[in-house]
Amino acid sequence: MSAINPKPMFDAKGWRLTEQERDLTTLARDFGETTLASRAHRWDQQATFPLENYHDMHGNGLLGIGVPKEHGGLGADYRAYMLTAAEMGRFCGATALTWNMHVCSTLWTGPLSDDLDLEPDALADHQNRRSEHFRRIVEDGAIYSQPFSEGGAAAAGAAPWSTTATPTDGGWIINGKKIFASLSGFADYYGILCGEIQESGKYSRRDTIYIAVPAKAEGVKVVGEWDPLGMRGTVSRTLIFEDVFVPDSAALMPHGLYFQAASRWPHMFMTLSPTYMGICQAAYDFTIAYLRGEIEGLPPVKRRQFPTKQLAVADMNVKLESAKALWFQAISEACPDPTKEQLMRAYTAQHVVMETAASLCALAIRTCGGQSMLKSLPLERLYRDSRCGSLMLPWTAEICLDRLGKLALYETGESDDD
Ligand SMILES: Cc1cc2nc3c(=O)[nH]c(=O)nc-3n(C[C@H](O)[C@H](O)[C@H](O)COP(=O)(O)OP(=O)(O)OC[C@H]3O[C@@H](n4cnc5c(N)ncnc54)[C@H](O)[C@@H]3O)c2cc1C
Repeated sequence: MSAINPKPMFDAKGWRLTEQERDLTTLARDFGETTLASRAHRWDQQATFPLENYHDMHGNGLLGIGVPKEHGGLGADYRAYMLTAAEMGRFCGATALTWNMHVCSTLWTGPLSDDLDLEPDALADHQNRRSEHFRRIVEDGAIYSQPFSEGGAAAAGAAPWSTTATPTDGGWIINGKKIFASLSGFADYYGILCGEIQESGKYSRRDTIYIAVPAKAEGVKVVGEWDPLGMRGTVSRTLIFEDVFVPDSAALMPHGLYFQAASRWPHMFMTLSPTYMGICQAAYDFTIAYLRGEIEGLPPVKRRQFPTKQLAVADMNVKLESAKALWFQAISEACPDPTKEQLMRAYTAQHVVMETAASLCALAIRTCGGQSMLKSLPLERLYRDSRCGSLMLPWTAEICLDRLGKLALYETGESDDD
């Protein structure tokens, strides 16, 4: 099915985009319209990974969007990436979501790391290592994933990782398990977070290390089924690591840097939201086109003349524009060491986008009616994909509310025990 609304989601004039943001969002929208939209049904129906899209993204540069220009990438900063990813989310949720895992491995090791503090020697090592990761992506078309989740409290930031990296001559030995590992069996490198075991034999969250494990390394296994409700093309099966040796050069971030990033650059966890921002826009666009009788392949029956439809669309518009405005503000103010208000706005924006995606899709189906949820149309896929947004750790919709409530009612250091 071809695209329904070719207009930019955040038009350059209205939202005062930079030239780079305008160019990148145009590239993603064109790619989405010409390529992603017509393939999306296949990945969803078969629950297969959109590898073909990744080959195309190597060709059009999007695979290296987060790689700095001096390393041959498109050099997007955080906001430029987020806006571009939202455009991708309009056309294929599974591609946008998995692409996010890949892009974060470059954004976090690149521009985001540059905002943090590292000793000169550690910085020089980091720069050497990341240049090899960047090279693989730009030259070889290598795909990186981000399997962090383990099924325990670690992915919510509430406990150390169960997956461990034991230092050994020239590298580490990795042991552990990652669940919901999107791109399993398709990524070339699994960018995992694990606890680096210290001389004492123990480790804490501060000892988190971010390592790119080659998919072909001995001891790496992909197990289990993948037959979920939505985001079926993400192929998020389980990964097992059994005594996997990785060399020092596999580190995506040196010891301590991930912990620093998670504490000082919290907007890094909003990067799962653009996919769902795109889904919000797609559900709205579909509804408009459907009620105007303009869906390709359907009889040109108009339903826009009914006041109930007009009211429902007005309601959808209010929800969509509110989510977009809040989200745009939150991604615009992302920075190291945000104020408490900026952090709270980021939690609010994440919560609103994830929940709005699900409610807009539900409203779209109710408004358009029975024929709109046939599998030949994209709306029912949007509806199922949208349901996954609120579940994405570490900033699930529930966790955002939990933190917002505490931050609103307590200042730093306050407790009720005095
Ligand atoms: C389509 C899809 C793709 C995914 N891809 C990836 C991926 O590539 N990489 C990856 O790492 N993960 C991925 N995930 C996993 C995702 O981020 C979550 O880890 C997963 O959904 C957790 O499910 P759970 O039931 O085990 O969560 P649980 O840990 O059982 O938590 C259930 C809920 O309880 C709440 N909760 C949990 N801990 C706390 C806490 N400490 N405080 C307050 N509330 C809490 C949260 O709201 C959470 O949603 C993906 C998930 C989906 C659905």
